[in-house]
Amino acid sequence: MKYIFVTGGVVSSLGKGLAAASLGTLLEHRGLRVMLQKLDPYLNVDPGTMNPLQHGEVYVLADGAETDLDLGHYERFTKCELTRDNNLTSGQVYETVLAKERRGDYLGKTVQVIPHITDEIKSRIRSFEQTGKADILITEIGGTTGDIEGLPFLEAIRQFILQVGHENAILLHVTLVPYIKAAGELKTKPTQQSVAKLREIGLQPEVLICRTEKPLETDVREKLSLYCNVPISSVIEARDVESSIYEFPLMLQTEGLDEKVCQLLHLDTRPADMERWKMVVHSIVNPSRQVKIAVVGKYVELQDAYKSIYESLCHAGGANDCGVDLEIVDAEQIEAEGAEIFLSGVSGILVPGGFGDRGTEGKIAAARYARENKIPFLGICLGMQIATIEFARNVCGLEGANSTEFEPTTPHAVIALLDDQREVTGKGGSMRLGSWPALLKPDSLAHRIYGQAEIAERHRHRYEFNNAYRERMEEKGLVISGTSPDGSLVEIIENRDHPWFIAVQFHPEFLSKPEAPHPLFDEFIRASIS
Ligand code: GLN
Repeated sequence: MKYIFVTGGVVSSLGKGLAAASLGTLLEHRGLRVMLQKLDPYLNVDPGTMNPLQHGEVYVLADGAETDLDLGHYERFTKCELTRDNNLTSGQVYETVLAKERRGDYLGKTVQVIPHITDEIKSRIRSFEQTGKADILITEIGGTTGDIEGLPFLEAIRQFILQVGHENAILLHVTLVPYIKAAGELKTKPTQQSVAKLREIGLQPEVLICRTEKPLETDVREKLSLYCNVPISSVIEARDVESSIYEFPLMLQTEGLDEKVCQLLHLDTRPADMERWKMVVHSIVNPSRQVKIAVVGKYVELQDAYKSIYESLCHAGGANDCGVDLEIVDAEQIEAEGAEIFLSGVSGILVPGGFGDRGTEGKIAAARYARENKIPFLGICLGMQIATIEFARNVCGLEGANSTEFEPTTPHAVIALLDDQREVTGKGGSMRLGSWPALLKPDSLAHRIYGQAEIAERHRHRYEFNNAYRERMEEKGLVISGTSPDGSLVEIIENRDHPWFIAVQFHPEFLSKPEAPHPLFDEFIRASIS
């Protein structure tokens, strides 16, 4: 197995995850089997308990692991199937090492960062070797060079590369080459210093991926090469992409990144055939029409909080020759000013997942607006619960209907805790998580959209539709078109008296890819266009 490590320098948010995923795309298109992994230096065991406004969305895997959003890029850009082994945090490393220490596995030794923590990290990097499923592992290290908490990971990589040799493991450093307006120049010093920091701890990057606003001229490349001790052919320009992140692999291919990596790792493969990818990107970047979609949420300040949803809308737009004009609406503003001003001009309304009661009344108003004005509506997870509450209150006349998550003493708990959640006290990894099957009702909108009777989708929730209200709501026109196979959990609801209204208890956004948009998003965009 060959190993590629990806670190980042100078600042955060450089798109390390995108760079790793894009390299994965290119290598896959050369016929190699790729696996991607993320090592996160923070102490949380997983990002499941973190606020989306701080950390971006929590990406859920099929096996129920709650992971960093970069794993979403990995799954969208490549075919690799990820599991909880693909996201390792310092929290997990320490948890494992301390459990071993308590069991007495270290036989009386003093337990230390080197070698015990670093050994544990290396064993998690090595763990993919035995599966025989991949030719190459790309491991991204979260954080920025110079962070104290990242040091054990970098030390583990140093040891690892030494053990397997430079022909089997290389280091790519993603860095920033800022343009300073006053000087009218690109500056290489931050990159020089960031690479110097790596060299101080015994790591020499083989390749520099330079994020920049302006083209890297030869003199800048020469300087980077000289001061950072990499050959000039290994200085890769990664200019800000103009229209779509899916252009990134194409840009890196033009710069020769995949070719260089294969040379360094002695991999003899054909060049990457990116023709189909190019076509997909072309349709995303050059649509002949536009559609305006409102996403009504509460984590609106941060682009990353609903990452997979925005990406899924973009994939579906591409498939329908349509650009998606996103209108990100703050649910609390709807509460203050009403739905009309924000939603009257949109062609589709989406209410995404979420936790806690802030903004829920605004989301309920948005669902009502969509229902009453016959605007295509897609509710996701909390979005389904919101649509249920709205229907209960305003169609079934169940005054004060609510979810017990927002109002524990509501007179009509149309959304309530899942039975097996009642005894749960801990917050980490304790929801109904991961891929679960659902059966679809024949002739329902859901059945038509999926074109099949059984589906499997990823979940992340504690609350559910309260079956005690099923009949009353169905009588008034709510359609329960998807349930768990035993019929006990409502998975999808629709509205009989609406042309396109569907809300799901799961997260379809985790299964959409640029070449294969998720059918729910695809049809949502189609309905919104018409
Ligand atoms: N807060 C809701 C629940 O726990 C919805 C969760 C979500 O949208 N992911 O059921």
